[in-house]
Amino acid sequence: MCGIIGYVGSKDAVPIIVNGLRKLEYRGYDSAGIAAFGKSGFFDVVKQKGRLAALEARLTDYPVEGFMGIGHTRWATHGEPSDVNSHPHLGNQGKIAVVHNGIIENYKQLKERLERKNVYFSSQTDSEVIAQLAEYYYNGDLMETVIKVANRLEGSYALGIMCVDAPDILIAIKKDNPLIIGISEHGQFIASDVPAVLEHTNKVYYLNDKEIAVLKKDSVQFFNIDKEMIKKPLETVTWSPDSAEKCGYPHFMLKEIMEQPKVLRDTINSAIGNGKNKNVMNKLDCSKFNKIVITACGSAYNSGVVAKYVFERLCRFPSIEVELASEFRYKDAVIDERTLVVLISQSGETADTIAAMRESKSKGAVTLSIVNVVGSTVSKESDFCLFTAAGPEIAVATTKAFSAQLALLYLLAIQFAVKLGKLTQESEQELLKEITALPGKADKILEQIDDIQKYASTCVGYKSIFFIGRNIDYATALEGSLKLKEISYIHSEAYAGGELKHGTISLIEEDTLVVAISNCERLYGKIMNNVEQVISRGAKVLLISGSAEKTPDERISMIRLPAVFELFAPSLSVIALQLFSYYVAANKGLDIDKPRNLAKSVTVE
Ligand code: GLU
Repeated sequence: MCGIIGYVGSKDAVPIIVNGLRKLEYRGYDSAGIAAFGKSGFFDVVKQKGRLAALEARLTDYPVEGFMGIGHTRWATHGEPSDVNSHPHLGNQGKIAVVHNGIIENYKQLKERLERKNVYFSSQTDSEVIAQLAEYYYNGDLMETVIKVANRLEGSYALGIMCVDAPDILIAIKKDNPLIIGISEHGQFIASDVPAVLEHTNKVYYLNDKEIAVLKKDSVQFFNIDKEMIKKPLETVTWSPDSAEKCGYPHFMLKEIMEQPKVLRDTINSAIGNGKNKNVMNKLDCSKFNKIVITACGSAYNSGVVAKYVFERLCRFPSIEVELASEFRYKDAVIDERTLVVLISQSGETADTIAAMRESKSKGAVTLSIVNVVGSTVSKESDFCLFTAAGPEIAVATTKAFSAQLALLYLLAIQFAVKLGKLTQESEQELLKEITALPGKADKILEQIDDIQKYASTCVGYKSIFFIGRNIDYATALEGSLKLKEISYIHSEAYAGGELKHGTISLIEEDTLVVAISNCERLYGKIMNNVEQVISRGAKVLLISGSAEKTPDERISMIRLPAVFELFAPSLSVIALQLFSYYVAANKGLDIDKPRNLAKSVTVE
């Protein structure tokens, strides 16, 4: 949510910042703005409600330039999306400019105090209080001012700060929201995420909470909150600049769907043999746990639901729970040092997942995370971390990161099952063979893209689409349904096949589509009973199956999957479902990579 980019260097900051904001668009936003500092000696600020294109149009009418600047895409939390509420915010005297990601929880108290001292606020945001407070405290020493401000703020923040008196200094500080520092030959960057700087550099520092970065044209220094200088490791990002480009695809989502065979291969390799993830898995002593809790949000939660079936079946583990992180954090969970809490988050910055992790740690549980972004909060704070090798995922609706999460969860379950003595070496080898065959089978589904596209183009008129499955296919149904509603805005629900008759079947009528997923051969007959029930009530049916021998009858459309071991079938079904959702949304002409109201990494509660 929200994107921050800042630059100080030898090039014109404005096009660099606008380009960086474009790379951060995927995070979700409703307005954008930029403040540049150049020869004029004051800040040139241009801010605009709406898409980045609107800001660019304003910049064409009112060109600004500078050798230092900060830019922001806002996802409003306090105050409606409007020009005036957009960031950057300036203090009353126009001395200090701030961009903020996060929520200042005590902004009302701070604002009231400042108002009593005749400070005039021009926006309804919580963020403006940061700029006003900074000007109020400012005594000629910008870093000291930033420290004083940070010590007064409650809540979460990533901040980029400039001051007219310090024309060559850009300051950054963060708490509970991500911020990276990039260094290049022509200047230094602050950014919410790596893709924003990738075209300039792959050398980055990951800022920790309450660390301060002081950026100048050709240097970066770090300090702790006591103003003591600290050293931080410079990291090299392995993502290629191409990975943050569409490379000829109409949308990032399609590109990311098509990348899945490679992502699966890379992720699987990381967790077998001498792979990095394998080493982490080896360190986990699973015999000491009597309970596993998997917690996550959105699609990551759905990958947890898949994992519950896999862990139960392979490890015969008595207590495995899957919890939405937003619920888990407030339920006073019954966990202790004998609990393993598995946290799944693409970004590693999901606010609810971070809170669930901290709650788990405070109760003594061991935390293991599955994360895509190196340097993210969850990856750093959890006791153990497995990294998905998905590369940057730009489309808001996750595809490849979800697939990579599944692969790691399968391999983790196998590893546990072996350690717990529930799998013979032979069965382990068989399962590993099945898993390493998944990328090739994923390719086979992608080959059916034209048929899926053709079928999806006939589905744009449905008012409701239901997804049904039994057992692990039900977990896939959850993800299929979520994907569809995220990007096509068609009402959709997922049901366990056997539950239909307990309620949902009353909703089935002529303009309803039911997508039935069937990879559990032993339950094929059961799901087909459900299919009959909905057809006789007027529904159309799409069957996604690797277990049906041939299309069961002409009333049913079908996407055929390669045969696969039941527990790993979600990895294949989900690719068919992603393509289906993608083409339904594409046929409706929707903004697929940035669906309305959604943000990529949900860094607020
Ligand atoms: N809470 C701030 C606002 O509403 C920042 C939101 C964001 O992170 O984009 O302006």
